[in-house]
Amino acid sequence: LRGGLLSWDGRLTDDARLVTAIARTAAARGARILTRVRALRLTASGARIRDELTGEEGEIRARVVINASGVWAGGLVDGIRIRPSRGTHLVLRADHLGPLPAGLHVPVPGETNRFVLVLPQGDGRVYVGLTDEPVDGDIPDVPEVPETDIGFLLDVLGSVLDIPVQRDDVVGAFAGLRPLLDTTPGEHSGAAPRTADISRRHAVLTSPDGVITVVGGKLTTYRRMAEDAVDAAVATHRLTAG
Ligand SMILES: Cc1cc2nc3c(=O)[nH]c(=O)nc-3n(C[C@H](O)[C@H](O)[C@H](O)COP(=O)(O)OP(=O)(O)OC[C@H]3O[C@@H](n4cnc5c(N)ncnc54)[C@H](O)[C@@H]3O)c2cc1C
Repeated sequence: LRGGLLSWDGRLTDDARLVTAIARTAAARGARILTRVRALRLTASGARIRDELTGEEGEIRARVVINASGVWAGGLVDGIRIRPSRGTHLVLRADHLGPLPAGLHVPVPGETNRFVLVLPQGDGRVYVGLTDEPVDGDIPDVPEVPETDIGFLLDVLGSVLDIPVQRDDVVGAFAGLRPLLDTTPGEHSGAAPRTADISRRHAVLTSPDGVITVVGGKLTTYRRMAEDAVDAAVATHRLTAG
Protein backbone atom coordinates (compact mmCIF):
# COMPACT_ATOMS: atom_id res chain seq x y z
CA LEU A 1 0.00 0.00 0.00
CA ARG A 2 1.52 3.32 -1.11
CA GLY A 3 -1.16 5.62 0.21
CA GLY A 4 -4.83 6.46 0.19
CA LEU A 5 -7.07 9.24 -0.90
CA LEU A 6 -9.87 11.26 0.55
CA SER A 7 -12.49 12.47 -1.90
CA TRP A 8 -15.62 14.56 -1.59
CA ASP A 9 -18.24 12.74 -3.57
CA GLY A 10 -21.63 11.16 -3.14
CA ARG A 11 -23.53 14.45 -3.02
CA LEU A 12 -26.85 13.50 -4.50
CA THR A 13 -28.55 15.69 -7.04
CA ASP A 14 -32.09 16.57 -6.02
CA ASP A 15 -33.64 14.72 -8.96
CA ALA A 16 -37.21 15.90 -8.31
CA ARG A 17 -36.05 19.51 -8.28
CA LEU A 18 -34.08 18.95 -11.48
CA VAL A 19 -37.18 17.62 -13.26
CA THR A 20 -39.31 20.51 -11.99
CA ALA A 21 -36.72 23.05 -13.12
CA ILE A 22 -36.59 21.53 -16.61
CA ALA A 23 -40.40 21.43 -16.88
CA ARG A 24 -40.63 25.08 -15.79
CA THR A 25 -37.97 26.07 -18.32
CA ALA A 26 -39.84 24.21 -21.08
CA ALA A 27 -43.10 25.90 -20.05
CA ALA A 28 -41.40 29.30 -20.20
CA ARG A 29 -40.46 28.47 -23.80
CA GLY A 30 -43.97 27.50 -24.78
CA ALA A 31 -44.31 23.84 -23.82
CA ARG A 32 -47.57 22.62 -22.34
CA ILE A 33 -46.88 20.43 -19.30
CA LEU A 34 -49.52 17.89 -18.22
CA THR A 35 -48.94 16.19 -14.88
CA ARG A 36 -50.64 13.07 -13.53
CA VAL A 37 -51.50 12.10 -17.08
CA ARG A 38 -50.70 8.59 -18.27
CA ALA A 39 -49.97 7.71 -21.87
CA LEU A 40 -52.02 4.61 -22.68
CA ARG A 41 -50.96 4.20 -26.32
CA LEU A 42 -48.51 5.96 -28.60
CA THR A 43 -48.43 6.48 -32.35
CA ALA A 44 -46.06 8.57 -34.44
CA SER A 45 -48.67 11.32 -34.52
CA GLY A 46 -50.06 11.34 -31.01
CA ALA A 47 -51.09 9.54 -27.88
CA ARG A 48 -54.15 8.21 -26.12
CA ILE A 49 -53.97 9.59 -22.59
CA ARG A 50 -55.80 9.36 -19.27
CA ASP A 51 -55.98 11.95 -16.52
CA GLU A 52 -55.17 9.83 -13.47
CA LEU A 53 -57.05 12.17 -11.12
CA THR A 54 -60.36 12.32 -12.98
CA GLY A 55 -60.16 9.16 -15.12
CA GLU A 56 -60.98 11.26 -18.19
CA GLU A 57 -59.40 10.00 -21.42
CA GLY A 58 -58.49 11.87 -24.57
CA GLU A 59 -56.18 12.15 -27.55
CA ILE A 60 -53.15 14.34 -28.09
CA ARG A 61 -51.92 15.09 -31.60
CA ALA A 62 -48.27 15.87 -32.22
CA ARG A 63 -45.78 16.17 -35.05
CA VAL A 64 -43.35 13.92 -33.17
CA VAL A 65 -43.76 11.51 -30.25
CA ILE A 66 -40.81 10.69 -28.01
CA ASN A 67 -41.18 7.88 -25.50
CA ALA A 68 -38.99 8.70 -22.48
CA SER A 69 -40.77 6.58 -19.91
CA GLY A 70 -37.71 4.95 -18.37
CA VAL A 71 -38.04 1.39 -17.13
CA TRP A 72 -41.68 1.38 -18.37
CA ALA A 73 -40.70 2.25 -21.99
CA GLY A 74 -41.27 -1.30 -23.28
CA GLY A 75 -44.95 -1.16 -22.29
CA LEU A 76 -45.62 1.64 -24.77
CA VAL A 77 -43.64 0.65 -27.86
CA ASP A 78 -43.46 -2.86 -29.31
CA GLY A 79 -40.00 -4.31 -29.71
CA ILE A 80 -38.36 -2.35 -26.86
CA ARG A 81 -37.06 -4.89 -24.37
CA ILE A 82 -35.96 -3.54 -21.01
CA ARG A 83 -34.03 -5.65 -18.53
CA PRO A 84 -34.75 -3.87 -15.22
CA SER A 85 -32.09 -4.01 -12.58
CA ARG A 86 -32.90 -3.31 -8.95
CA GLY A 87 -30.56 -1.02 -7.04
CA THR A 88 -31.14 -1.07 -3.28
CA HIS A 89 -29.75 1.33 -0.68
CA LEU A 90 -29.83 0.83 3.09
CA VAL A 91 -30.29 3.68 5.54
CA LEU A 92 -28.24 3.46 8.76
CA ARG A 93 -27.52 5.85 11.59
CA ALA A 94 -23.96 7.14 11.63
CA ASP A 95 -23.49 6.17 15.30
CA HIS A 96 -23.79 2.50 14.32
CA LEU A 97 -20.63 2.88 12.24
CA GLY A 98 -18.49 4.74 14.73
CA PRO A 99 -16.76 7.96 13.69
CA LEU A 100 -17.15 8.23 9.91
CA PRO A 101 -15.41 11.34 8.57
CA ALA A 102 -15.57 10.14 4.94
CA GLY A 103 -17.34 7.68 2.70
CA LEU A 104 -16.11 4.17 2.00
CA HIS A 105 -15.77 2.21 -1.23
CA VAL A 106 -15.94 -1.44 -0.20
CA PRO A 107 -14.96 -3.95 -2.92
CA VAL A 108 -17.54 -6.69 -3.43
CA PRO A 109 -15.65 -9.90 -2.61
CA GLY A 110 -14.92 -11.97 -5.72
CA GLU A 111 -15.68 -9.11 -8.15
CA THR A 112 -13.14 -6.94 -9.94
CA ASN A 113 -15.25 -3.89 -10.70
CA ARG A 114 -18.07 -3.62 -8.15
CA PHE A 115 -18.13 -1.70 -4.90
CA VAL A 116 -20.57 -1.00 -2.12
CA LEU A 117 -20.49 2.69 -1.27
CA VAL A 118 -20.99 4.07 2.21
CA LEU A 119 -22.21 7.65 1.86
CA PRO A 120 -22.55 9.77 5.03
CA GLN A 121 -25.31 12.39 4.75
CA GLY A 122 -25.38 15.75 6.49
CA ASP A 123 -28.15 14.75 8.91
CA GLY A 124 -26.53 11.81 10.72
CA ARG A 125 -27.85 9.21 8.32
CA VAL A 126 -25.65 7.02 6.15
CA TYR A 127 -26.66 5.42 2.84
CA VAL A 128 -25.12 2.07 1.94
CA GLY A 129 -25.59 0.75 -1.55
CA LEU A 130 -26.13 -0.56 -3.94
CA THR A 131 -27.26 -3.85 -5.42
CA ASP A 132 -27.58 -4.79 -9.09
CA GLU A 133 -30.21 -7.51 -9.37
CA PRO A 134 -32.33 -8.46 -12.39
CA VAL A 135 -36.09 -8.06 -11.92
CA ASP A 136 -38.49 -10.21 -13.93
CA GLY A 137 -42.22 -9.84 -14.51
CA ASP A 138 -44.45 -6.80 -14.25
CA ILE A 139 -42.69 -3.55 -13.41
CA PRO A 140 -43.95 -2.16 -10.10
CA ASP A 141 -44.45 1.57 -9.47
CA VAL A 142 -42.40 1.23 -6.29
CA PRO A 143 -40.01 -1.73 -6.10
CA GLU A 144 -39.92 -3.77 -2.90
CA VAL A 145 -36.62 -4.38 -1.14
CA PRO A 146 -36.10 -8.10 -0.50
CA GLU A 147 -34.21 -9.36 2.57
CA THR A 148 -31.59 -10.87 0.25
CA ASP A 149 -30.55 -7.35 -0.87
CA ILE A 150 -30.27 -6.21 2.76
CA GLY A 151 -28.22 -9.29 3.67
CA PHE A 152 -25.89 -8.79 0.68
CA LEU A 153 -25.15 -5.16 1.55
CA LEU A 154 -24.62 -5.95 5.26
CA ASP A 155 -22.27 -8.84 4.36
CA VAL A 156 -20.12 -6.69 2.06
CA LEU A 157 -20.02 -3.86 4.58
CA GLY A 158 -19.18 -6.33 7.37
CA SER A 159 -16.17 -7.54 5.40
CA VAL A 160 -14.28 -4.32 6.25
CA LEU A 161 -15.64 -3.45 9.73
CA ASP A 162 -14.26 -4.62 13.06
CA ILE A 163 -17.78 -4.58 14.50
CA PRO A 164 -20.30 -5.60 11.83
CA VAL A 165 -23.54 -3.67 11.46
CA GLN A 166 -26.53 -5.82 12.46
CA ARG A 167 -29.91 -6.23 10.74
CA ASP A 168 -31.58 -4.34 13.62
CA ASP A 169 -29.37 -1.32 12.89
CA VAL A 170 -30.98 -0.87 9.45
CA VAL A 171 -33.53 1.92 9.84
CA GLY A 172 -34.72 1.90 6.24
CA ALA A 173 -34.14 0.74 2.69
CA PHE A 174 -35.20 1.93 -0.74
CA ALA A 175 -34.76 0.71 -4.29
CA GLY A 176 -35.04 1.89 -7.88
CA LEU A 177 -35.08 0.03 -11.18
CA ARG A 178 -32.41 0.83 -13.75
CA PRO A 179 -33.87 0.94 -17.28
CA LEU A 180 -31.22 -1.22 -18.96
CA LEU A 181 -31.75 -2.08 -22.59
CA ASP A 182 -31.87 -5.81 -23.30
CA THR A 183 -29.67 -6.31 -26.35
CA THR A 184 -29.48 -10.11 -26.27
CA PRO A 185 -30.82 -11.51 -29.56
CA GLY A 186 -34.09 -13.45 -29.50
CA GLU A 187 -35.64 -14.91 -26.39
CA HIS A 188 -33.70 -14.93 -23.14
CA SER A 189 -31.41 -17.89 -22.84
CA GLY A 190 -29.01 -19.02 -20.18
CA ALA A 191 -26.42 -16.83 -21.90
CA ALA A 192 -28.09 -13.53 -20.93
CA PRO A 193 -25.47 -11.29 -19.30
CA ARG A 194 -25.63 -10.27 -15.64
CA THR A 195 -27.34 -6.90 -15.24
CA ALA A 196 -24.10 -5.55 -13.71
CA ASP A 197 -22.43 -6.23 -17.08
CA ILE A 198 -25.08 -4.57 -19.30
CA SER A 199 -24.09 -1.22 -20.80
CA ARG A 200 -25.27 1.94 -19.01
CA ARG A 201 -25.12 3.88 -22.27
CA HIS A 202 -28.38 5.27 -23.59
CA ALA A 203 -30.01 4.32 -26.87
CA VAL A 204 -32.33 6.20 -29.21
CA LEU A 205 -34.58 3.82 -31.14
CA THR A 206 -37.12 4.65 -33.84
CA SER A 207 -39.96 2.15 -34.23
CA PRO A 208 -41.24 1.17 -37.70
CA ASP A 209 -44.22 3.51 -37.27
CA GLY A 210 -41.96 6.43 -36.25
CA VAL A 211 -42.19 6.67 -32.44
CA ILE A 212 -38.82 7.64 -31.00
CA THR A 213 -37.74 6.00 -27.73
CA VAL A 214 -34.85 7.21 -25.59
CA VAL A 215 -33.89 4.77 -22.89
CA GLY A 216 -31.04 3.68 -20.63
CA GLY A 217 -28.32 6.16 -19.85
CA LYS A 218 -27.64 8.06 -16.65
CA LEU A 219 -28.98 11.06 -14.84
CA THR A 220 -25.60 12.71 -15.43
CA THR A 221 -25.93 12.27 -19.22
CA TYR A 222 -29.46 13.63 -19.51
CA ARG A 223 -28.49 16.56 -21.75
CA ARG A 224 -26.77 14.26 -24.23
CA MET A 225 -29.76 11.88 -24.12
CA ALA A 226 -32.11 14.77 -24.89
CA GLU A 227 -29.90 16.08 -27.68
CA ASP A 228 -29.71 12.66 -29.36
CA ALA A 229 -33.49 12.18 -29.07
CA VAL A 230 -34.21 15.61 -30.55
CA ASP A 231 -31.69 15.02 -33.36
CA ALA A 232 -33.49 11.74 -34.18
CA ALA A 233 -36.86 13.52 -34.13
CA VAL A 234 -35.61 16.26 -36.46
CA ALA A 235 -34.08 13.73 -38.86
CA THR A 236 -36.92 11.20 -38.88
CA HIS A 237 -39.78 13.66 -39.18
CA ARG A 238 -37.95 16.32 -41.21
CA LEU A 239 -38.65 19.01 -38.66
CA THR A 240 -36.98 22.35 -39.04
CA ALA A 241 -34.69 23.02 -36.12
CA GLY A 242 -35.02 26.57 -34.82
C1 LIG B 1 -30.76 2.40 -8.27
C2 LIG B 1 -30.33 3.36 -9.36
C3 LIG B 1 -29.13 4.03 -9.25
C4 LIG B 1 -28.73 4.94 -10.22
N1 LIG B 1 -27.54 5.61 -10.06
C5 LIG B 1 -27.22 6.57 -10.92
C6 LIG B 1 -26.04 7.37 -10.73
O1 LIG B 1 -25.32 7.21 -9.73
N2 LIG B 1 -25.75 8.31 -11.65
C7 LIG B 1 -26.52 8.53 -12.73
O2 LIG B 1 -26.21 9.41 -13.51
N3 LIG B 1 -27.63 7.80 -12.96
C8 LIG B 1 -28.00 6.82 -12.09
N4 LIG B 1 -29.12 6.07 -12.30
C9 LIG B 1 -29.81 6.17 -13.58
C10 LIG B 1 -30.84 7.26 -13.67
O3 LIG B 1 -31.63 7.33 -12.52
C11 LIG B 1 -31.71 6.93 -14.88
O4 LIG B 1 -30.90 6.69 -15.99
C12 LIG B 1 -32.63 8.08 -15.20
O5 LIG B 1 -33.54 8.28 -14.15
C13 LIG B 1 -33.40 7.75 -16.46
O6 LIG B 1 -34.17 8.87 -16.76
P1 LIG B 1 -35.41 8.76 -17.69
O7 LIG B 1 -35.98 10.14 -17.77
O8 LIG B 1 -35.04 8.05 -18.95
O9 LIG B 1 -36.42 7.78 -16.91
P2 LIG B 1 -37.15 8.01 -15.52
O10 LIG B 1 -36.36 8.86 -14.62
O11 LIG B 1 -37.53 6.64 -15.06
O12 LIG B 1 -38.46 8.81 -15.93
C14 LIG B 1 -39.51 8.18 -16.66
C15 LIG B 1 -40.79 8.90 -16.32
O13 LIG B 1 -41.83 8.44 -17.19
C16 LIG B 1 -43.02 8.31 -16.44
N5 LIG B 1 -43.88 7.33 -17.11
C17 LIG B 1 -43.72 5.99 -17.22
N6 LIG B 1 -44.71 5.44 -17.93
C18 LIG B 1 -45.55 6.45 -18.28
C19 LIG B 1 -46.78 6.52 -19.02
N7 LIG B 1 -47.35 5.43 -19.56
N8 LIG B 1 -47.35 7.73 -19.17
C20 LIG B 1 -46.80 8.84 -18.64
N9 LIG B 1 -45.63 8.85 -17.93
C21 LIG B 1 -45.03 7.66 -17.76
C22 LIG B 1 -42.56 7.84 -15.07
O14 LIG B 1 -43.52 8.14 -14.10
C23 LIG B 1 -41.26 8.65 -14.90
O15 LIG B 1 -41.54 9.89 -14.30
C24 LIG B 1 -29.55 5.15 -11.34
C25 LIG B 1 -30.77 4.48 -11.44
C26 LIG B 1 -31.17 3.59 -10.46
C27 LIG B 1 -32.50 2.90 -10.58
